Amino acid sequence: MTRPTITEIRPHIRSYAELTSLEVELAKDRASLLVLPVGACEQHGDGLPLGTDNIRAAHVARAVVDRLTVLDERAGGDQGRAFVLPGIDYGVSPHHRFLPGTINIGPQLFIDLVASVVHQLADAGFDRLLVITGHGGNLAALGVIQQSLLATHPDFVFAYAPVSALATEATAALPRTEISGHCGESETSQMLAIDESLVDTDHLNPGATRLDDLDPRARLSRTKSPSTAVTFDRYADNGVLGDPRTATATAGEGILGEVVDRLVAYCQELQRL
Ligand SMILES: [Zn+2]
Repeated sequence: MTRPTITEIRPHIRSYAELTSLEVELAKDRASLLVLPVGACEQHGDGLPLGTDNIRAAHVARAVVDRLTVLDERAGGDQGRAFVLPGIDYGVSPHHRFLPGTINIGPQLFIDLVASVVHQLADAGFDRLLVITGHGGNLAALGVIQQSLLATHPDFVFAYAPVSALATEATAALPRTEISGHCGESETSQMLAIDESLVDTDHLNPGATRLDDLDPRARLSRTKSPSTAVTFDRYADNGVLGDPRTATATAGEGILGEVVDRLVAYCQELQRL
């Protein structure tokens, strides 16, 4: 039996998992861009959900693909389509295991999982993919995958990006304590912007806010380079870096907007390759 051929992918489809087998072949033939959201299932203080990094990564991935789809429609289909892959909601979180809820799959399993997905897509004929990680702890593993792909699939374009760290301008405008990061002002603002009902505002408590309050090893770990790592109980009992009480949905919209703008501009370059 011969399979039918199609010439169009249904315009409302934005997600890889919603494509049919016929459509996915067309998506591959047209060099579609794939966007893979990854995150972590880990403690996010007393006020944010365990899946905070997945929720932010998935939100950004969808917003980027939605924008690219509109741009493609405006260009009469010349820009190319983009699709969000099913996300990976577990990550590299050994530093967050001291509080309940964290499920750490460790760097090796994370590398194997992402690499397996990417290898199958590359072997199927896709040639460009952007990983958006809501969790900074995955970045080193993503770097390993990127280097490994140069040996196994050198023509495959594998890009990866963090979320919060891309919003340099909006973050600079944010009132932040000297130490700020995990479950702090930026991350909490983003969650308020995405879905306020997921934030337990009664339990948004400050964590580590001043370098002078840290023990010497924890203080040293805040130096970006050279790099050392500590488990987050060394920063604060509640695992929070910063003061989430000053977070606002408006600030979160600004941060997410800047992240999406930057990624859309980058993805357009990817699509032109
Ligand atoms: Zn997070």
